[in-house]
Amino acid sequence: MTKTLPRLPFDVVKDQLCVRCGACFDLCPKSLIRPDKQLYPAFSKHDKAKCNGCGLCMRACPSNVDFKKLYMECFGRITAPHDIAGVLKNVYVGYSANPEIRYMASSGGVVTELLLFLLKEGFIDQALVCGVDAKNPLRPNSYLAKTAKDIIDAAQSKYSVAPQMNLLGEIIRSEAKTAIVGLPCQIHAFRKMESHSKKRTANVKLVIGLVCHRTLEIDALPKMLEVSDIKPDTVKKAEYRSGKTWPGSVHVFLKNGQKKLLIQDYKNAFNYLRMFYSPQRCLTCIDFTAELSDLSVMDPWFRDESGNYPYSHATVVFTRNNKAEYYLGRAVANGNLHIEELAKNVKIKSDLVLPQEIIERSQLKYFTKLKKRIIPARIKRYQKAGKPYPVYHVDFPPPSLKDRISEHIDSMTRLPGRWEWSRDLGMRIAFSKFGNKLMRLRNDYKTGKAKFQSRIRKQS
Ligand SMILES: Cc1cc2nc3c(=O)[nH]c(=O)nc-3n(C[C@H](O)[C@H](O)[C@H](O)COP(=O)(O)OP(=O)(O)OC[C@H]3O[C@@H](n4cnc5c(N)ncnc54)[C@H](O)[C@@H]3O)c2cc1C
Ligand code: SF4
Ligand code: SF4
Ligand code: SF4
Repeated sequence: MTKTLPRLPFDVVKDQLCVRCGACFDLCPKSLIRPDKQLYPAFSKHDKAKCNGCGLCMRACPSNVDFKKLYMECFGRITAPHDIAGVLKNVYVGYSANPEIRYMASSGGVVTELLLFLLKEGFIDQALVCGVDAKNPLRPNSYLAKTAKDIIDAAQSKYSVAPQMNLLGEIIRSEAKTAIVGLPCQIHAFRKMESHSKKRTANVKLVIGLVCHRTLEIDALPKMLEVSDIKPDTVKKAEYRSGKTWPGSVHVFLKNGQKKLLIQDYKNAFNYLRMFYSPQRCLTCIDFTAELSDLSVMDPWFRDESGNYPYSHATVVFTRNNKAEYYLGRAVANGNLHIEELAKNVKIKSDLVLPQEIIERSQLKYFTKLKKRIIPARIKRYQKAGKPYPVYHVDFPPPSLKDRISEHIDSMTRLPGRWEWSRDLGMRIAFSKFGNKLMRLRNDYKTGKAKFQSRIRKQS
């Protein structure tokens, strides 16, 4: 435990524990807290004097989350500390039955289509989504979508810090039936709030979690434009997952009607960007699969025997409770979504544990190592060094030597992101012809590795 827990959002920021979820912005009864340029909570000197230290703004703050308590409240049981995916009912893969939604979304458009169905059928009156700021299209903008158009406008992942929970207060105050879409840390904020008052949050009908190994600083997109010689004020819209190819390309749409390609393969771009633009706080986050959501969604990054992705333009869905099963089932029965049990297709058993084969073939590092071994090892190191760290109330066993070494290596790979000059240099290399070549080589290596592993699997 930290010796003194942060008392106010500004202490959380100072200790580098702020995920910029935005929850505190709207929870202050005196409206003293506003986002600064980097979307951290801030208040003016004048407003600081008005703060009476009541602490209401900290009620939902994910810098200190009691996982055990929240797990019990959500699911009636806890999982083992190293359990990678949390409580599961079932694992599916699916996509929107509407090709327009399916191909414009990040993965298979399950989130957008499910929200559209829930709104149309009256299960919800609004959904908390993340679109882009109309005035500054390079910035995310969270809002309560009340129409089908609002929901569709927010489709696609914004790989950026987004203070999604700045509308938490408004959701609580309203009686409107609401679905929440959020990253794991944003969902921590909601569940903390729910834990304070189940009655006041009873209007939240479904919590959809986006699997997240980390997000990017808001400066990442402007830098991509800079190294591609595109002026930010000429941009109307930016998309990380654009076009009919999968997983999609990073494109910008200019005000003059032109469409410019920044990078061919989104996944490769992200692999570079996370080196330079990972927020410090993501390096101490232990939740990959949005464990406290009702339903989590992710990309089907697993490869088949030939090294290709067998599912493209599709979303993997984890249901965690009966509520999620019910809403998903209704949307499928109504013809809005096509889904299949992943178990049937990749010959695996999908019970209450995440199928081993998915783990082996999909984002292996994040599932098995990063969030449940490497990051706990980092938290332990911070604890020993007297550095602030987020409190999760999870009893991780002492890290092994291998985990500690991996943690140091992982920390070193983040070094290029620490200084402006190294970020600039790195980004210029990544977005050059040479960088593109490196990305293609990396892809070929991954395809070859998947083929080789599948051959070994068959032989054994
Ligand atoms: C920052 C980030 C990191 C991610 N990391 C991974 C990962 O490591 N592995 C993986 O498999 N999947 C990851 N995902 C999830 C993946 O990108 C897709 O969002 C998911 O598969 C759902 O796809 P879909 O087509 O069903 O969603 P869509 O139909 O495209 O809908 C996406 C929904 O997400 C909401 N949204 C978009 N950006 C944000 C944001 N920044 N904060 C909160 N809500 C947002 C939108 O409001 C929209 O409703 C990440 C997503 C984000 C935003
Ligand atoms: S402590 Fe109370 S008054 Fe001060 S910022 Fe937080 S909620 Fe507002
Ligand atoms: S509530 Fe969210 S935005 Fe506010 S200090 Fe905590 S983590 Fe940061
Ligand atoms: S890695 Fe964790 S802290 Fe960072 S954006 Fe994702 S859920 Fe939030």
